Amino acid sequence: MPGDAAVVSRRLLGRIRDVMAKPGLPEDRLNVIVRCIAEEMQAAVCSCYVMRAGEVLELFATEGLRKSAVHQTRLRVGEGLVGFIAAHPRALALSDAWSHPSFVYRPETGEEPYRSFLGVPIVRTARVAGVIVVQTIETREFAPEETEALETVAMVLAELLTAGNLIDRREQIPVDGTALVPLRINGLKLSPGLGVGTAYLHRKVPFVKQLVGEDPEAEARRFDEALERMHVALDEMLAAEAIGKSEYRDILEAYRMFAADRGWIERIRLHISGGLSAEAAVQRAQEENRTRMQAVVDPYIRERLHDLEDLTDRLMLHLMGHDPTERKAMPEHAILVARTLGPADLLDYDLSRVRGVVLEEGSPSMHVAIIARALNVPMVARVPEIVGTIGAGDPVIVDGDNGSVFIRPSEDVSATFVATVKMRREKQKAYATLRDLPARTKDGHLVELFMNAGLLADLPMLEEVNADGIGLYRTELPFMVRADSPDVEVQTSLYRSVIDAAAGRPVCFRTLDVGGDKMLPYWQNAGEENPAMGWRSIRITLDHPAIMRAQLRALLRAADGRPLSVMFPMIAEVAEFDAARRVLDLELTRAERRGEALPSDLKIGCMLEVPSLAFQLPQILARVDFLSIGSNDLAQFLFARDRGNQRIAERYDLLSPPFLSALDSIREACDAAEVAVSVCGEMAASPLDALALVGLGFRKLSVNGPAVGPVKATILSMHAEDAGRLVRRLIGGAEHSIRSSLAGYARDRGIQIP
Ligand code: PEP
Ligand code: MG
Repeated sequence: MPGDAAVVSRRLLGRIRDVMAKPGLPEDRLNVIVRCIAEEMQAAVCSCYVMRAGEVLELFATEGLRKSAVHQTRLRVGEGLVGFIAAHPRALALSDAWSHPSFVYRPETGEEPYRSFLGVPIVRTARVAGVIVVQTIETREFAPEETEALETVAMVLAELLTAGNLIDRREQIPVDGTALVPLRINGLKLSPGLGVGTAYLHRKVPFVKQLVGEDPEAEARRFDEALERMHVALDEMLAAEAIGKSEYRDILEAYRMFAADRGWIERIRLHISGGLSAEAAVQRAQEENRTRMQAVVDPYIRERLHDLEDLTDRLMLHLMGHDPTERKAMPEHAILVARTLGPADLLDYDLSRVRGVVLEEGSPSMHVAIIARALNVPMVARVPEIVGTIGAGDPVIVDGDNGSVFIRPSEDVSATFVATVKMRREKQKAYATLRDLPARTKDGHLVELFMNAGLLADLPMLEEVNADGIGLYRTELPFMVRADSPDVEVQTSLYRSVIDAAAGRPVCFRTLDVGGDKMLPYWQNAGEENPAMGWRSIRITLDHPAIMRAQLRALLRAADGRPLSVMFPMIAEVAEFDAARRVLDLELTRAERRGEALPSDLKIGCMLEVPSLAFQLPQILARVDFLSIGSNDLAQFLFARDRGNQRIAERYDLLSPPFLSALDSIREACDAAEVAVSVCGEMAASPLDALALVGLGFRKLSVNGPAVGPVKATILSMHAEDAGRLVRRLIGGAEHSIRSSLAGYARDRGIQIP
């Protein structure tokens, strides 16, 4: 490509702009554009393939190949070089196309004389809309700048193909005419609960009309100004009272750092110097980001790319002169619909109106999902094409329990859900009347009901449901949302806020439990084949004692002479507990030496979630003040059943002879040793499971906040000794599950199983 690539790219874009400015049919314009490209890039051939229904790429326009091949030559995705580019999707530059393994020869095109090949995908909203190719007779090494120039042109073509309706949309929803029928679409459940309301489309970025920049310098200036405005707005958001010292701050800090990412900013500047308008340059960077996102499996990087996507939208709105935080009137019962939501977005809304959230993308560990769970907002993600399918104001139901979204539901469906929501609300009200009653069974056994938490935002619920304390405080979230490990000061202030918010009720802090699916950005997972059984949790913190020390130091400081309870996760053998305990002792000695206030009462325990520890019970019970059974991980390891694998999620039941027998023998040993034992995994939060646990003699459960009421209702209506006799008899048998027998028993005895 002769001359400066940016100059050629600008000249080419200038010519394309002229073509687009004149009236004409999209196909005619495409013919002129391929000719311009061939001329400017000094190539004998330029062809444009367009994606048709059934994942087929059809030759739509060519300069240099036989015209008779237009609409005749078709390649499936993955077939030939064009299909290869669409499948990956990324640029491919070859000095000798014929020697590439994917090359297929199509005689009807007359492409025998052409040796070199450069092709790039035409991508629009993360979907391949076509492929643009140049070919030359001579053997030519294409320079990276030439690829860059062709990619810039491809972006303009993406708009032309979409605006000209050249892309076959038969497979995409909405299809005119069917857009108004009721739809049920399944997605990924990210936050439980039911939400009924009307669709509110989250900040839709307007269509970019001006793709080609007249004056790159002026465009670069506009970009810089918009970037500056965005930074100021983010700073203001961080300074806001509500963000104050909450954990959201960490999320937003990481996000703001991203806004200053040089690589991202430089890419946009490069696109502007290549001739795109500032908006088109931002859009192109966004397309690149989306394409990258599809290829990334690492959940942490995917989340970061989600954040970047959100920033790009904000930047785009600043560029277009809109205020991204400005909200149109939101319906009173709103279902927020978006492609994806940035961590700050949900908090920006009036949460008293948001009944649910539906996203086109997302993963369970994305920040907005963590926040939605903490705020009890039902959320379903990975709902294909949702933004295009739902119209603002459409009635929508989000079923976060089953991962379904009902759009424009029929009256029957609506009525059923409205009734369920109403019933749940009434039940919640009924639970409120149980708030001040102790959780005592009919035969007089008192059960302590604790709450699990992991966010400051969970704490107000402690008072609301009147739980006896926090039985499990998961400390990993602030570690997961930051770019580096939070220091002692940050941790101290956070833990202090937690202890303050608990207002005298005990809080059991679990030390860092990361790894497995909760990998931290700064400790790279070495691509373990079996991360759930890999380098995680206590294994990481024992290998990095400085991290454990910093956390324990922060906990001791936060307690500041008040009672403190600490437990270590994933302990597999007593020696591991001893090693962790030694680290705690070092910190206690240090604090004492420095004259710092020691906890008035220090309780030290560990989780039992690795089966091996159950075979060392006498030794561990001699060392701990309490034991907490993590039924989620314990079941994973006892049944050899990956807890994240949906395929086998229902295969084994925790209400089964092997699992309940294991729990019973652990409880028995604890009682004999007079060591407090609790169950803090998800099973304790299920009323029927809680019935079995209390029957077996467990007297301390720790459950998520909303489950406190329902579990208490079960306890109040049950007879522990009687239930225990039944459960013991059933687990002596050989059934796969005792669930239905137990449910029948509860029904017969009038035990409340909500
Ligand atoms: C458990 O494993 O049961 C548990 C409570 O810990 P987590 O779910 O955080 O792994
Ligand atoms: Mg666990």
